[in-house]
Amino acid sequence: MRDCFELRAFDAGGRIGELRVPRAGVTVETPALLPVINPHIRTIEPAELEADFGAEILITNGYILAGSDDLREEALSRGLHDLYDFSGAIMTDSGSFQLAEYGEIDTTTEEILRFQRDVGSDVGTPVDIPTPPDVSRERAEAELATTQERLELAGTVDVGDMLVTAPVQGSTHLDLREAAARDAYGTGLDVFPIGAVVPLLNSYRYDDVVCVVAAAKRGLGLDAPVHLFGAGHPMMFALAVAMGCDLFDSAAYALYARDDRYLTVRGTEHLDDLEYFPCSCPVCVAHDPEEVASCDDDARERLLARHNLHVTFEELRRVKEAIRRGNLLELVDARARGHPAMLDGYRALLDHAEQLERTDPAVKDAFFHVSAESARRPEVLRHHERLARLAVEGDVLLTEGGDDDRYDASWRLVPPFGPFPRHLSDTYPFTAEVPETPTREACERAADGVCALAESNPGASFTVAHWEWPESALARLPEGVDVRSLVGRESER
Ligand SMILES: [Zn+2]
Repeated sequence: MRDCFELRAFDAGGRIGELRVPRAGVTVETPALLPVINPHIRTIEPAELEADFGAEILITNGYILAGSDDLREEALSRGLHDLYDFSGAIMTDSGSFQLAEYGEIDTTTEEILRFQRDVGSDVGTPVDIPTPPDVSRERAEAELATTQERLELAGTVDVGDMLVTAPVQGSTHLDLREAAARDAYGTGLDVFPIGAVVPLLNSYRYDDVVCVVAAAKRGLGLDAPVHLFGAGHPMMFALAVAMGCDLFDSAAYALYARDDRYLTVRGTEHLDDLEYFPCSCPVCVAHDPEEVASCDDDARERLLARHNLHVTFEELRRVKEAIRRGNLLELVDARARGHPAMLDGYRALLDHAEQLERTDPAVKDAFFHVSAESARRPEVLRHHERLARLAVEGDVLLTEGGDDDRYDASWRLVPPFGPFPRHLSDTYPFTAEVPETPTREACERAADGVCALAESNPGASFTVAHWEWPESALARLPEGVDVRSLVGRESER
């Protein structure tokens, strides 16, 4: 396990962890949000972030500080913690974002890392090349080679006990993301930001974000703290955490507030469109939208920024509680109903069920089957893998109805899991709460379970007894399986 990061609880690919930040002498619980502090425009003071919102870590731009005539010397002489009056951990960015925005910057990895060390940053960043999505493979490869050189160089700079990030680039070329992650992990650096996903987030390409993160995760060790760089909208925290992201940074709370935009876990609203605030934070309890709209620019921005922070930190707490309770995927499912692009993201997440299954706990509180997508959760996949190893003999009944002693064995059949021996009924995930009428997808997945069992037991003969499964599910059952309907035998339900 990496020295600075310890994992405590898992759900799907999500985890609760502790990031030890030696230079600050603090331990940050993850998933964590790093509010972005613009050195020139402090919408909400860092001390306020710490006292009112419980921020344990924040991020500010080392490159802007280094290039600022009025702040550079002050940051060097006082140090960031004193300058910002913040006792938590402070991470600094290197100017890579400016490089992506403006095409060039005036520093090097060694120079900016030394500057970050000298101003007392706790987590520093080298100058990587943020390659945007959808560029040619040649360009992504060439820029990745430069990034990798700089990461290796970063490993040689004397930074004391400042942690150093190793950004993972590679554009939307998934094999390059995976290779980049493996190389970054191999450097021995400490924190792993997945870079240049902001254009994907801005265009609501959540499915592509999931694929990029999944690729990077394949290249990183389990013990690597992963930062989804530039992701600060609370609507996507559950999804990104379920994929295995640990750190988020939010400039959104302030930038959106400046444009009169109001964050919610289901998306963004414009202040002018709201007659009621759908929130119980101190700002929304004390004001209505009309009052906020009538404030002067500064007061309005502050009020909206404070609401945006409340809803953002609240969602992060909700995500952590969901991990602890084992129902993170149900939270992702709920968030996926907020926007069609989020549903695409959730479906892409479930395409990686095998990857999620590796850290998904074998036992949880309850499995709520709440949507067609539930049928593709890692628990179902894991059961099907187990079915392929279970031995059964003779005439076997797999039934949605009651026990029948005319058969050598009578197993329960429950969509979406498929068949399982009756004595497992009280074990996870078969304690699942499932709807009275299963979805088509759930019946199809259950049929896949029957296939897995039948394939591994060619000597046994199977009868499937079902309540009106759709044709698409029955068509998936293996050849030679006897199928009968339970309709008319309601007493068995
Ligand atoms: Zn509010």
